[in-house]
Amino acid sequence: MTPRLWAACTLAVLLVALVVYAAVTIPWQRPPAPRADQLAALGQFPADQVARAREFHSALRPGAYGGLLVGLAGALVLGFTPLGSRLVGWAGRPFGDHWIAQAVLGGLLVVLAAEVLTLPFAAWRHTVVVRYGISTQTWGAWAVDVAKSFAVGAVIGALALLGFFAVTRLAPRWWWAFGAVGAAVLVVLLSFVLPVVVEPIFNKFTPMAAGPLRTELMDLAARDGVPVKDVLVADASRRTRAVNAYVSGFGPTRRIVVYDTMLDEATPDEVVSVAAHELGHAKRNDVLTGTIIGALGAAASVIALYLLGSLGWLLRWAGADAMGEPKAIALLIALVTLAGLVGGPVQALVSRRVEARADAHALELTGDPATFEAMQRRLGTVNLSDPDPPAWEYVMSASHPSTVERMAAARAWARGER
Ligand SMILES: [Zn+2]
Repeated sequence: MTPRLWAACTLAVLLVALVVYAAVTIPWQRPPAPRADQLAALGQFPADQVARAREFHSALRPGAYGGLLVGLAGALVLGFTPLGSRLVGWAGRPFGDHWIAQAVLGGLLVVLAAEVLTLPFAAWRHTVVVRYGISTQTWGAWAVDVAKSFAVGAVIGALALLGFFAVTRLAPRWWWAFGAVGAAVLVVLLSFVLPVVVEPIFNKFTPMAAGPLRTELMDLAARDGVPVKDVLVADASRRTRAVNAYVSGFGPTRRIVVYDTMLDEATPDEVVSVAAHELGHAKRNDVLTGTIIGALGAAASVIALYLLGSLGWLLRWAGADAMGEPKAIALLIALVTLAGLVGGPVQALVSRRVEARADAHALELTGDPATFEAMQRRLGTVNLSDPDPPAWEYVMSASHPSTVERMAAARAWARGER
């Protein structure tokens, strides 16, 4: 068998494994709460508040979709014309066309070009979230965040590019196999390392002061059979008024993180309700499931890219000789961007199913649907969510069930529909 045939067979096996694993671990069969309950929940919101939330989201759309379109156009132009490969060649020239300079500097240059194109749209979105009182960041603090994000991405990207092109040079015919394993390992590493290493770059975490709430949260976790090491408070208020909580880390490092904004805005019972939802994710190992799906997807993507490398016309468009050389970086990024665009709605669907299961877990664990519903209403109100967003946007990008769906689920649960 040729390397290409091996690659095609491995890709088929990975795709089957991905589909089977997702079919088994994702709660596909959970029906959404009745629409009548959703409409009743929507009636709980004052009309002017719903109107303001919808106005906010309309104001965000030009910046969001404009950025998406321009970013996509930039990636396609760089990847499907020789422009990207010229940028890479140019970056390597001062270093005698050395492959490391081409891979790392060229790669960063291509990404930076796309970043610069979309930056004005990000700034536009910032003006909207400030105008509507969600963001509390000054332009200076916002710029620091943008720079930090780029720096984190640059470090991870440089290491990935360096590893990838080292492998393509060492094993020109079999790099797809090493690349697939490497991509899967990278996904797993990032999933474990990012929360520990990257979160502190953006926020400060302090242990929650001893008191009734902390005790209740620790008890809740123990009762749920999900031991947590600590309850931390994140200083989210330095950039946002939005409220949130999450569980991060695995096993002995697991901790509940609560935004400080949440402690100001929500009642202690509501914080418990949110924590119960988060414990649902921990109990079902949702992060691990997502990591395994991501790892399988990453491995499959590398092999798919290798196979696409046999399309001579594609390489000619991109001004590259092979998929495994640095001059193909922009083409690789364009293909990954396209795949992400197609995969986004699928990812959102999977996420919504998993979130609905965590909601059901919170209801079971607290046995308090009234507080759950009140908490959802407050989250929606403070975060200025559209409680019942347009269907197309929901299908394309909603990572969580809508606020009215979540409130309706609590109502259905209270009636004994579980
Ligand atoms: Zn969740």
